[in-house]
Amino acid sequence: MKTIGVITSGGDAPGMNAAIRAVTRLASALGFRVLGFERGWEGLINNLFRLLTPRSVGGIIQLGGTILLTSRCPGFKTREGIRRAADNLVADNVDGLVVIGGEGSFRGALELSRETDVLIIGVPATIDNDVYGSDETVGFDTAVNTAVAEIDKIRDTAISHERVFVVEVMGRRRGFLALTVGLTVGAEVILIPEVPVHMENIFRTVKENAAKGKRSGIIVAAEGVGDTRRIAEEIEVNTGAEVRLSIVGYAQRGGSPTARSRLLASLFANEAVNLLASNAGKCVVGLQKGEIKSISLEETCSREKPLDTRLLSLARTLAT
Ligand code: ADP
Repeated sequence: MKTIGVITSGGDAPGMNAAIRAVTRLASALGFRVLGFERGWEGLINNLFRLLTPRSVGGIIQLGGTILLTSRCPGFKTREGIRRAADNLVADNVDGLVVIGGEGSFRGALELSRETDVLIIGVPATIDNDVYGSDETVGFDTAVNTAVAEIDKIRDTAISHERVFVVEVMGRRRGFLALTVGLTVGAEVILIPEVPVHMENIFRTVKENAAKGKRSGIIVAAEGVGDTRRIAEEIEVNTGAEVRLSIVGYAQRGGSPTARSRLLASLFANEAVNLLASNAGKCVVGLQKGEIKSISLEETCSREKPLDTRLLSLARTLAT
C-alpha cells in the first residue's frame, strides 16, 4: 500500500481544509494511507503527524483555517532541516507528499525534492493568488469576497459623511487581491506594489471627483505600496477632502470558504492524488484557462505570475 503525506504550509487560506478533506478521501478511495503532518514543514522536521481517514476529515469542508495547523518554518531553509524532513519521510514510509500552500512553500518543496525520491505535488492555496502556473489559488475568492463585504460597509459611511477612505488590503508583494477587490467595489483609485504610486495623480483624481459631484471615494491599497497612514494624510492635506484610513487586516485570511474556493480545493486535490497514483511528482497543480493542469515545481518557482495591469485602467474608467 502506498502512503501519502499531506501538509498545509505558509500563510493560511480558506479552503485548505476542503483540500485536506479531498486529498484524504480521494487517496483513501485508492487504498492509500494518509498521514497529516502538523504545522507545515515543522511537522516534517519533527515527525509530528496523525493518521487521516475519511471519517476524521468529516465536517471540515466549511471551516476556514487548517485543522493541520500551519507555520512559517525558518528551520526548513537550512540543509539540516531539509535532511531531517527527508529522513522522516523515509522512516514513515511516505511515497508521496501533497504540499498545500503558496509559492514560499513550493520553494521549500523544490529544495526537499532535491534531497529525496518521495514524489511531491503542490496544491496552490493562498489568498495572494500569486502562484505561477495557476490562474487562481484556493482561498483567493474567499478573501476577495471578505474584503468586498467589508468595503461595501465602508462605502456606506463614506457616502454619508462625504469622506474619502483609504482601505488597506493584504498583499505585501503582489496586487492580485487589491486589484480584484478594487475593481469589484468600484474603487476610484487602486494602488498595487507592481505599479509606482504617484501621489499627484491621486490628488488630481480626488479633486476631479469632488468637482464632478462624487461625494465619497474609496482608494484600495495593497499593504505593499507603503505607509498607508501617510498616504491618507497626504491626500487630506493636498486635496482638502476628509480622509480616513481603514485596514481590513487578518479577517481576510479567515472565514468559511466560498463555494468557488471549495470547488478549486477539491479539483486540485483530485489532480494531485491522480498524479501521485500514476507516480508523477515534482509538480504543482493549477487552473489554466478553465482546465486543471500541472506544471513542474521548478518552473513555478522560477517564474513570476504576470498581473494584468490593463485592469487598472478598466477600473479607473468604471469608477468615473
Ligand atoms: P507561502 O507558502 O504562503 O508563500 P511562505 O513564503 O511563508 O508562505 O513560505 C512557507 C515556508 O516555506 C517558509 O516558512 C519556509 O519554511 C519554507 N520556504 C520558503 N522558501 C524556502 C526556500 N527557499 N527553501 C526552503 N524552504 C523555504
